[in-house]
Amino acid sequence: MSEIPPRHPEKRLRPDHPVARKPAWIRVKAPTSPEYQVTRKLMRGLGLNTVCEEAACPNIGECWAKRHATVMILGSVCTRACAFCNVATGNPQALDPHEPEHVAEAVGGLNLEHVVVTSVDRDDLEDGGASQFAVVIQAIRAKAPGTTIEVLTPDFLRKPGALEAVVAAKPDVFNHNLETVPRLYPSIRPGARYFHSLRLLSRAKELDPTIFTKSGLMVGLGEDMGEIYQVMDDLRSAEVDFLTVGQYLQPTPKHAPLDRFVSPDEFARLKEMAFGKGFLMVSASPLTRSSHHAGEDFARLRAARETLAAKAV
Ligand code: SF4
Repeated sequence: MSEIPPRHPEKRLRPDHPVARKPAWIRVKAPTSPEYQVTRKLMRGLGLNTVCEEAACPNIGECWAKRHATVMILGSVCTRACAFCNVATGNPQALDPHEPEHVAEAVGGLNLEHVVVTSVDRDDLEDGGASQFAVVIQAIRAKAPGTTIEVLTPDFLRKPGALEAVVAAKPDVFNHNLETVPRLYPSIRPGARYFHSLRLLSRAKELDPTIFTKSGLMVGLGEDMGEIYQVMDDLRSAEVDFLTVGQYLQPTPKHAPLDRFVSPDEFARLKEMAFGKGFLMVSASPLTRSSHHAGEDFARLRAARETLAAKAV
């Protein structure tokens, strides 16, 4: 009988760091609602992956009960090996040519007003998977023209033309997470480059000034507040509109160790500081994730831009 391959082969020999017990403000209920089952069945039936499951997101019970799921395209195996992430790593599968129509069907089936489409990193593909993002966007537009589309993309490092292909497909929101402060990149996001990711965001806005740009950070990895404020300034220099900040939760003992749980009061201060620095929209709380409440937040983001434009007249 063939053995099941380990989910994170590159982390097998790393030392164990015990997973800390979560504080009361992070406890979430087990997903049990009938709507959760409906969402699960639809995703399974269409053979789609979700980051909600693959990343072991703590919000899955809440989001799926509202039929809000974040589709993860380009397969379920990532070619990077970030120290914080629970998505499986290793040799990726061939692209599924039916993925775009299945994603569009799921969006229609869930009757989504706003959808978030993300992916694994595909450094093995010549365009990093950009053309599949573009075809998925087109398929959703054809099937559900009223649905607004948010893409949460990899960094497309060393993939010339990839960002341009995604932006040309006209998603409503272009999201790319910086994840952490630049000092921690070598240990937390070793395959990525901070200034490349920042440039990706500013370039997206240059290519299409009407697009909303968004980025996210995890806290609790050992960063200090001064470093977070500097990242906020960097993101504002890149004209990023929307910032999300959430608590890092260590998926397994082999992942990057948690430094600390950031209190809800500190999240409130981070939120205030970020608004002070000029973001149009900020979501900062222990359970904030890039796609958590993405639909409601998109409506707020659009309203904030309209208010700003009206003031400028
Ligand atoms: S927050 Fe995002 S990733 Fe987590 S369950 Fe909700 S939609 Fe999925």
